[in-house]
Amino acid sequence: MNDATQILQTVFGYDTFRPPQDEIIDTVIQGGDALVLMPTGGGKSLCYQIPALVRDGCAVVISPLIALMQDQVSALRQLGVRASFLNSTLDPGQAMQVEDDLQRGDLDLLYIAPERLTQERMLGLLERAPIALFAIDEAHCVSQWGHDFRADYLQLSLLHQRFPDIPRIALTATADERTREEIIRRLDLEAARRFIAGFDRPNIRYRITLKHNAKQQLLRFLKEEHAHDAGIVYCLSRKKTEDVAFWLQEQGFKALPYHAGLDASMRADYQARFLREEEIIMVATVAFGMGIDKPDVRFVAHLDMPKTVEAYYQETGRAGRDGAPANAWMVYGLQDVIKLRQMLDGSEGSEEHKRAEQHRLNAMLGLCEITSCRRQSLLSYFGEDRDTPCGNCDTCLEPVTTWDGTEAARKALSVVYRTGQRFGVNHLVDVLRGSEGERVYQYDHHQLATWGVGKDLDNNQWRSVFRQLVARGYLRVDMDRFGALCLEERCRGLLRGEEVIHLRKDVTRKSASRQTRST
Ligand code: ADP
Ligand code: ZN
Repeated sequence: MNDATQILQTVFGYDTFRPPQDEIIDTVIQGGDALVLMPTGGGKSLCYQIPALVRDGCAVVISPLIALMQDQVSALRQLGVRASFLNSTLDPGQAMQVEDDLQRGDLDLLYIAPERLTQERMLGLLERAPIALFAIDEAHCVSQWGHDFRADYLQLSLLHQRFPDIPRIALTATADERTREEIIRRLDLEAARRFIAGFDRPNIRYRITLKHNAKQQLLRFLKEEHAHDAGIVYCLSRKKTEDVAFWLQEQGFKALPYHAGLDASMRADYQARFLREEEIIMVATVAFGMGIDKPDVRFVAHLDMPKTVEAYYQETGRAGRDGAPANAWMVYGLQDVIKLRQMLDGSEGSEEHKRAEQHRLNAMLGLCEITSCRRQSLLSYFGEDRDTPCGNCDTCLEPVTTWDGTEAARKALSVVYRTGQRFGVNHLVDVLRGSEGERVYQYDHHQLATWGVGKDLDNNQWRSVFRQLVARGYLRVDMDRFGALCLEERCRGLLRGEEVIHLRKDVTRKSASRQTRST
């Protein structure tokens, strides 16, 4: 048995490492740098806590969250580990004491806030103390591309310059490809070994279907599959959580609303009930979930599409913590895209920030529209590549059929163009289908060459075509013009006939119910 395994067992009381904890720990013990991507709850802390105990000197852990520092330090002290923290909650006398311990080599781990670490005085202290390693927790905070940017983190590249011989380990739970590259660049971690692991939740079955009547679809899903289970239903707006919760109560379910607008005592009460009671459904905004550890949540349903793949992963991840089968079920439609675009456009923040958000939203849309395995796509978003389809998501269980939508797409793009890029999807479909409605005549659109060229597809099929063209970036929803569809640069190839496009055949209600019965 090596030192690391012995410490795992004697100090922390666990039998074995969860791969790749052991490899990460070896790397750091031997003095190498590491970049660790692991989901929340994956076991990142041990990856630096054990090397801290094996290597000589004190491990310095940079963490942006004061509450988390305090929790970790008290947990470690209970295990007999000599841990302390330095942050703004200490008075000068207490801080001095910690600094003395550090100098004397009486500390195994020191947690410290980034703004304090980068003060010249602190750096000087560290240079005189024995240091085992630097751990940079929540490393995505260094990314301006990310959502938790902390300017203090940018300074952390100086660790490499001032302490070139001390190993560094950077850890995060959320990092898409771009964020990851930014972490590596900004923290000078080019030579670090990368460890990406543990994002798969094999017992969760992912399903994303088209929204036609969200409440009825939800009801059917609950009745057929979760009549007596606890679960979470996520909605975008506070009002909707209340609507849906009360409606579910009328249908005989034990449902509660939850959002940040409820007063604190009510929230605490509902949360406690959710944890304690069985067969209870929480209808919530994203305000619900952080730190909720209920192992037997059997389903997470989304009535609105989350803004990012990270959010989707986090929220669906609250299902099936006990390892038993659980469902992540979602309905989505073009309206979700429009609503999210609207929120994005109305939000504050720089153009760059909005572009980043748009990019994230597109990735989420991609996951909805994908015709291959959802789990493969989800995992590859987090950098975890797997060779084979999972067999436990809707696209695996009921392979999506595609059709050659080139002709239809060209008609759709052309009607957008000919009507001046000023109309929403309903009107565009009317024109294509040759409607003789009032608005069509009002704008003389019955005179257009594209009027009535789309009688071969029905309303829903056309909506599906438009939705997929938006999702794939051929069309853009212009919120300044009340949801008008506009052409994007990339539709040229299609319009010129240089490109072929395969579209997803949307699963109809009938085949959707066949799917749930057969599995
Ligand atoms: P993260 O920081 O990645 O969110 P933590 O380090 O807090 O995750 O670990 C999550 C939980 O898993 C903790 O309760 C921790 O004690 C436990 N854990 C971590 N590694 C192991 C292991 N090898 N064996 C058993 N439990 C582990
Ligand atoms: Zn799959």
